[in-house]
Amino acid sequence: MGRLVVISNRVPVPARSGDAPAGGLAVALNAALQERGGIWFGWSGKSSPGAEPPPPRFQQQGNISYVLTDLTETDVEEYYHGFANRVLWPICHYRLDLAEYGRKEMAGYFRVNRLFAHRLAPLIQPDDILWVHDYHLIPLAFELRQMGIKNTIGFFLHIPWPPSDVIAAMPMHEEIIRGLSHYDLIGFQTDYDLDNFAGYLAREGIARKLGAGRFEYHGQHFKAAVHGIGIETKSFAQMAQVAISNSAVRKARQSVESRDLIIGVDRLDYSKGLTQRIDAFERFLRAYPGYHNKVTYLQITPKSRSEVPEYETMQKMVAEEAGRVNGAMGTLDWVPIRYVNRSVGRHILAGLYRIARVGLVTPLRDGMNLVAKEFIAAQDPDNPGVLVLSRFAGAARELDGAVLVNPYDTEGTANAIARALSMSLQERRERWQNMMNFLLHHDVSHWCDAFLNDLTQHKQIQAVPI
Ligand code: ADP
Repeated sequence: MGRLVVISNRVPVPARSGDAPAGGLAVALNAALQERGGIWFGWSGKSSPGAEPPPPRFQQQGNISYVLTDLTETDVEEYYHGFANRVLWPICHYRLDLAEYGRKEMAGYFRVNRLFAHRLAPLIQPDDILWVHDYHLIPLAFELRQMGIKNTIGFFLHIPWPPSDVIAAMPMHEEIIRGLSHYDLIGFQTDYDLDNFAGYLAREGIARKLGAGRFEYHGQHFKAAVHGIGIETKSFAQMAQVAISNSAVRKARQSVESRDLIIGVDRLDYSKGLTQRIDAFERFLRAYPGYHNKVTYLQITPKSRSEVPEYETMQKMVAEEAGRVNGAMGTLDWVPIRYVNRSVGRHILAGLYRIARVGLVTPLRDGMNLVAKEFIAAQDPDNPGVLVLSRFAGAARELDGAVLVNPYDTEGTANAIARALSMSLQERRERWQNMMNFLLHHDVSHWCDAFLNDLTQHKQIQAVPI
């Protein structure tokens, strides 16, 4: 078995003891890397002013070599803020209206992928298996192939893949597809994303379908398949059980007194549907006055990407909306919405999920949405809360037991909140058990193993002439 080489935009180098535990993806990939030995390569998160970034830094921990590359300020502006976050992110989240195309940014995106390929290629051994993650690095396999790298290379897209017309609206979409075709396996979160991708290939008439998820594109053979990402279900559940005794969680519980807690946890992002969610909560309060002073909605939302103007505007809008609802609906002894603009430790989050009666996860579009899965894993089996979930989150394709909503239909979401709050214990248990069984089986290690098996098997099949 060859080594594993993981490549992602950022590299979560494990914290020294005492720091907060890392998220599921980092835990699973680190475990796979420790087992097989290998490299985790990516951007350091730092930028340098010159024309050429300094050579990469190496950090060895056990069997894993973390390789961190700085970028220049121009690289970061064009590759990261420019093309990745102002074109690919909105496009893949169906927001054509927010995409800002620029040839300079596009060129910067390809340039940084080429730089990564140049820095990575000398470190690769002949039987290494490469696994590239997410939308920042789509052209990486193409660049590596140009340099003569023949290794097995897989790609996993963590975000959605939209319908063909949305992709086709992106100038130079052909280059993006050409980039993808140089992978051996392309993994998507859901069948929906895979269908959209296959639909694009069919509509543009640029690839031949070979069956069993295999395609041929200008002589390149690749497979596309669904591999929905999981979380570390078991340990998250254990963490939640312990965390309810944590003093921060206990204080939060005491502060809402005997009211039912409704929780929302999201990065501040336009894909998360935060203003629609607050609107839905207001409609719920107006339509069901019996719940006045009986519920508290806690929204925990750390700021993100504040250098992008849309995010700055959105931050103001969400804060204003929450303030407006509190002003209109609150009383002298009740603040309906608690809006917290910071990130909290994973164990505290786990405890807060567990004490919540309803998890509100209503993105307008989301690749998977791990918060939905964490909320379920954290529940008390004897008295589980209810997940209200957007039908447009990837998780909705898997979690049979959530109360599904259309987040654009704020009245519908308001009714779903009421339904979740009044659901019988028996129904809550049945729904929760269904979802928990799924999550225990399809956890993040399962995802990691299944993807790597699919990748190596596909490569073996490919080696046999058709
Ligand atoms: P996205 O990747 O778009 O941010 P996901 O729901 O898939 O959305 O993943 C978000 C991850 O970030 C989850 O693991 C969640 O626990 C974590 N997270 C989100 N908000 C916070 C917060 N306020 N504090 C700590 N962790 C958070």
